Amino acid sequence: MMDIFSDITIENQQVNLHLPNGISLYLKREDKNHPFVSGNKLRKLKYNILEAKKQQKNTLLTFGGAYSNHIAATAAAGQLMGLKTIGVIRGEELCDKIHENPTLRFAQRCGMEFRFVTRTEYRLKDSLEFLNNLLHNYGTDVYVLPEGGTNILAVQGCQEILISDDASFDVICTAVGTGGTMAGLINSSFPHQKVLGFPALKGKFLEEVIKKYVSKNNWKLIHDYHFGGYAKINDDLIRFLNNFNEKTNISLDPIYVGKMIFAIFALANRGYFEPNTKILAIHTGGLQGIAGFNERRLRKSKEILNYV
Ligand SMILES: *Cc1c(COP(=O)(O)O)cnc(C)c1O
Repeated sequence: MMDIFSDITIENQQVNLHLPNGISLYLKREDKNHPFVSGNKLRKLKYNILEAKKQQKNTLLTFGGAYSNHIAATAAAGQLMGLKTIGVIRGEELCDKIHENPTLRFAQRCGMEFRFVTRTEYRLKDSLEFLNNLLHNYGTDVYVLPEGGTNILAVQGCQEILISDDASFDVICTAVGTGGTMAGLINSSFPHQKVLGFPALKGKFLEEVIKKYVSKNNWKLIHDYHFGGYAKINDDLIRFLNNFNEKTNISLDPIYVGKMIFAIFALANRGYFEPNTKILAIHTGGLQGIAGFNERRLRKSKEILNYV
């Protein structure tokens, strides 16, 4: 069978924009690791899909919002690896609006079956009763992935993002959602490196989640750049991202990676990093979400991202 997980080679690309004090910034282009399953979600799916195969499951079931990168990646990876996929989607009103949503359209084309649930039901998704009900409908051949895809096998996959050549960097930066990617990076970081995480959402619970998966303490979460919460943005961020794209030709998503890169420039400009620090920021992907993001912005007659 075609294996979407073997032989991934990723380039570190220098960002040729001015940073003060001799600081340099490189992007690890994980967004290019696969055309459809791109970014950290490919890494998080790898050992889970291998485990599902080992357990002879034929279906992946997972959870997500209407524009979820994890939903898109699971749908595509399932199709490529010969597994059926079921997406439990937050928001029952989306049921007859699939055609209006690029993420759901894509997932459906990959063969994903949807189960739309109310926000109240969705909040119960980690309860045993909710899961048992679901599995009752779908049978025993189902392998369940949590929302955002984070579990111990996902962390294992994310440990493969850093390689020995990356030892030359002083600071590793990543955007944080559920914390799985950052945990993997911490586990494979070198002792002289510091791993900085930039949560894309409000809340102090992430420290505890990450601690479950790591034993080192060369890391820190910087909570000042979520722009008000998950998927919240402002005009400064949009302008920054359009300008960044114009000057570098690199596309950043506005939910995760864009906020992190904005933060790195802001921190560098206020003297946060030592002179000559070499920073490696992980481009975790998420570009599939830009189309849906722009559609929502257009409906509100707001400025959009001038790239995909
Ligand atoms: C999901 C996602 C993240 C967050 O990853 P976690 O492992 O959930 O912290 C970061 N960037 C992008 C583009 C993502 O899609």
